[in-house]
Amino acid sequence: MMVTGSSALITNIQGYSVHDGPGIRTVVFLKGCGLRCLWCSNPECISPHPEIGFVKSLCARCGRCAAACTSGALAYEEGNYPHFNRQKCSGCGACATACPGKARLLYGKAMAAGEVFASISQDKMFYDASGGGLTVSGGEPLLQPEFVRDLFAMCRDVGIHTCIETAGHVPAAALQKVLSLTDYVLYDLKHMDDEKHKVYTGKHNALILDNARAVAASGVEVLFRMPLIPGINDDVENIRSTAWFLHSLGKRFLRIELMPYHRLGTGKYESLGRAYPLADLALPPAGHIEAAKSMFEDNGIRCTVSR
Ligand code: SF4
Ligand code: SF4
Repeated sequence: MMVTGSSALITNIQGYSVHDGPGIRTVVFLKGCGLRCLWCSNPECISPHPEIGFVKSLCARCGRCAAACTSGALAYEEGNYPHFNRQKCSGCGACATACPGKARLLYGKAMAAGEVFASISQDKMFYDASGGGLTVSGGEPLLQPEFVRDLFAMCRDVGIHTCIETAGHVPAAALQKVLSLTDYVLYDLKHMDDEKHKVYTGKHNALILDNARAVAASGVEVLFRMPLIPGINDDVENIRSTAWFLHSLGKRFLRIELMPYHRLGTGKYESLGRAYPLADLALPPAGHIEAAKSMFEDNGIRCTVSR
């Protein structure tokens, strides 16, 4: 009998990733995050509830989604785009199932850990050959620690490498629930100034820094990362403070990976009917990434840049 384990809301299971931990990996995106980073590129992962996205350019105006909806959230008139009332939507996903063109998308499908494991374990030969494995991301995966623990326990049983992508704004107990089953942690540091952290992410950073110290002390391999957002956290002072924090953790932690700012998530904001918070932010000048990299290196931190 298959062990099902706890359930979580999943927005996507993405295979063959080479950017989310070592080797070739499958990345499982969980829904729900306590932060509200202005630059977030996964807005569909913020709310802890199921949501419906709509991609107008894919819609054939056939009305099948409205016919499938039993909540009265979709109204259709022949030849027009269906009108969506988000307040009435229960997130059941019937409209997404009925849509022939993938114009309507369900963000947040409830899946048991055993079901996810059955899906991701099919690629074990690729993980083994490349030194890869499973990464859980989000959103904030540690807001659903029971699910992560159950999934990672199944991976451990068959030797699949496990990795968490976290921003660390979670209760310490949630971290402890999964750390002993985790092989690798990708840990984001967004801003070292507490007040600015609150302004740009909606939350203070004390809990994040405490959990970072706990991860560093645990002996689990960790890569600290920083989203590099022009005009927000790329100044000398913040880079120096981040470098000092890494020095305070010990010699094993004198490296960081920069994640350059991009706008790849703007289509998802549109599909959810939300405005992109940084729409007015100017794109960074040429040499911006190299300048930040040099500043870290000047402060004794090895620096790499992700895609
Ligand atoms: S998710 Fe369910 S309730 Fe919401 S619009 Fe689609 S069919 Fe209607
Ligand atoms: S079922 Fe899909 S293609 Fe048809 S009207 Fe609804 S969203 Fe558009």
